[in-house]
Amino acid sequence: MDTIPSTRSEVLPEGASDPLVDGFGRVVDDLRISVTDRCNFRCTYCMPAEGLAWLPKAELLTFEELARLARLFVRLGIRSIKVTGGEPTVRADLPTLVRMLREVAPGLDISMTTNGVLLDRLAEPLAAAGLDRVTVSLDSLLRHRFAEMTRRDALERVFAGIAAAERAGLSPIKINCVIVGGTNDGEVVDFARWSRETGHVVRFIEYMPLDAQRAWERAKVVPSARILAAIDAVYPLEPLDPDAEPARTFRFADGAPGGIGVISSVTEPFCDTCNRVRLTAEGQLRACLFALEETDLRGPLRSGASDDELERLIRDTVARKWAGHRINHPDFVRPDRSMSAIGG
Ligand code: SAM
Ligand code: SF4
Repeated sequence: MDTIPSTRSEVLPEGASDPLVDGFGRVVDDLRISVTDRCNFRCTYCMPAEGLAWLPKAELLTFEELARLARLFVRLGIRSIKVTGGEPTVRADLPTLVRMLREVAPGLDISMTTNGVLLDRLAEPLAAAGLDRVTVSLDSLLRHRFAEMTRRDALERVFAGIAAAERAGLSPIKINCVIVGGTNDGEVVDFARWSRETGHVVRFIEYMPLDAQRAWERAKVVPSARILAAIDAVYPLEPLDPDAEPARTFRFADGAPGGIGVISSVTEPFCDTCNRVRLTAEGQLRACLFALEETDLRGPLRSGASDDELERLIRDTVARKWAGHRINHPDFVRPDRSMSAIGG
């Protein structure tokens, strides 16, 4: 069951203004906040082994700045906030930030995407602070392949993190699995079996041209249709009603727990229904993962902008959101930022 509130009035405070609508009539009600660009993993499809040039601390939005922006976004109709990164759990005092976000609006859906390696100690304090649920990235069920893909021998700790999240009630727990052709594509049926055993929905993400090393090649993208066919041949699937999520989701036809999702950003883009905006760790607002332009909110925040001025900047950015990314077009231009610097 999803925990996202179903109506604006469940979340919105007194004095709420008109919703955020882009130039194509799509309502934006989901905000991804990156709280750091740093990470304790080095996933091969995301960043190089040596890491990236991390932002100095002074450039990160403070908790107070994040809470102020969150309050403003909620007034503009944001119903769900996803805390992400980089790896969000490496930001010091993360539960304090979650508590501040929770105070913004009790009915807000607050979730986090994490690699899970620090969840064994953070799941409980995060849940106590008001986090609703987590999505954990898990690219292999095999120790050697997990270590190869993340460049960290940490599979057991991630399993422990998932178990801790379960105990803390951070559910439904979703699992994100980036499939890279020739690496972990042989594991999709094993993941389906694991989903049936654990009850966690596994969402397969197509490899996107957002790795910092620019090693992405189309030949390594495994189309979601192929993943679904492989699983359906062993464990027949039934589609669930499409919802606001970008993932298309399926349940097991025999009624087993768990389920499968696919995020087909490359082969079947879902831009028509995109309801998201993203805030980078240093306060740049992006209307699309692949946007080539962004709006600086930190500068105005730090030079005393009023809420009305910030609202204007946000509305203008959303109004300029483009119809869709152009990965499959000859004129596709990769954004300068890679996934971890945007906030996936
Ligand atoms: N560090 C956290 C994690 O890995 O869950 C949160 C940030 S990470 C950038 C967010 C999501 O983006 C993860 O599920 C990750 O697997 C995914 N991701 C990173 N690089 C990707 C790429 N090039 N293509 C597709 N997904 C990618
Ligand atoms: Fe870190 Fe997440 Fe990127 Fe992996 S995908 S390197 S865990 S930010």
